[in-house]
Amino acid sequence: MPTVTFENVSKIFADYAAIRNINFKIADGEFVVFVGPSGCGKTTTLRMLAGLETPSYGSIFFDEVDVTLVPPGRRDIAMVFQSYALYPHLSTYQNLAFGPRARHEDKQLTDQRIREVARMLGLDSLLGRRPSELSGGQRQRIALGRAMVRQPKVFLLDEPLSNLDAALRAQMRIEITDLQRRLGVTTAYVTHDQVEALTMGHRIAVFNKGELLQIDTPQRLYQQPVNEFVATFIGSPKMNLVPGTLERFDQSVFLKCLGRNTQLSDRQAKGLRSGDISSVNIGLRPQDVHWTQDAPGRCTQKIRGIVHAVEPTGAETFVIVDVDGQSVEAQFPSFSQIRPGDQVELVFDSEDLYVFDAASGVNLL
Ligand code: ATP
Repeated sequence: MPTVTFENVSKIFADYAAIRNINFKIADGEFVVFVGPSGCGKTTTLRMLAGLETPSYGSIFFDEVDVTLVPPGRRDIAMVFQSYALYPHLSTYQNLAFGPRARHEDKQLTDQRIREVARMLGLDSLLGRRPSELSGGQRQRIALGRAMVRQPKVFLLDEPLSNLDAALRAQMRIEITDLQRRLGVTTAYVTHDQVEALTMGHRIAVFNKGELLQIDTPQRLYQQPVNEFVATFIGSPKMNLVPGTLERFDQSVFLKCLGRNTQLSDRQAKGLRSGDISSVNIGLRPQDVHWTQDAPGRCTQKIRGIVHAVEPTGAETFVIVDVDGQSVEAQFPSFSQIRPGDQVELVFDSEDLYVFDAASGVNLL
């Protein structure tokens, strides 16, 4: 399977820059997810990889071969779309056989491959049915099967699960991840759903406004986001962001936020000592803000506020608290007897704080 490389790729539509100078590699057999809000350029990137769009600037390589101008049919790729794009008048078998027949491939070999793919996807008993006689999940599997029958070198999937209900989406996430691992095909997958991205990708490429902000493992994206956008896009519920001020005296750094002086850890103080930025935004994941009565011992930073809203999710309860005029979301134990209007004390460990430059959004630590 090839390594895919994007080198200084931009795509301009008329006078609109949909993609601005992106660089990344997808390693042999790797599963990379492109994620970002609507209009950020992820589909355009996938379409350039497929050969359906030509970059305005820059080059795309499969291993050492420059494929920038190679048409889709000669790239050895298979693409699965959100709409499945199945032929409604053909049976599952005929849908799977359509591509190989159009390419005049050997009938017996094609039949063998279809049966193998049908077995892998659990479609054996559905080969005679038409799309209208199948569930959404089964149709999605056929769309995947059709791509697999091609035995492509690169697998491209564009929001393939967005037409399915939540339960089926969760099941198909696992199936596709497992399938990709077994086939070992270099894969690019587009979604706007950060949960899908975190659970499926070996690495995740986060896009915003035509820029590739960060491409990293789920763990690194979550723990070391490059900026505020990535930090708030990855993770659910969203990371809390509150304004803060840094003050430096001699070799020490002090942080004021949420109406109090907040202790920084040695690591953070060291990282922030030499800069000159004073206006910052402080990030704190809801999972790292606890109710005093249910807090790990390391949480020594206390804040007080009034409960604004309570959202039980079953396994835990998320509580939105007004603290010094700022809204802070915290994780409480499941079904806590907390009500809007209650006074609560929250605690956190300063080691869990993120510090962003208020002007540029860059992560300063
Ligand atoms: P979504 O999740 O909504 O599909 P996306 O991240 O996939 O969004 P793209 O489809 O890549 O976004 O589009 C990126 C930007 O480029 C959008 O602003 C879109 O309107 C614009 N765009 C895409 N294709 C064209 C085109 N053929 N002509 C002009 N503008 C286009």
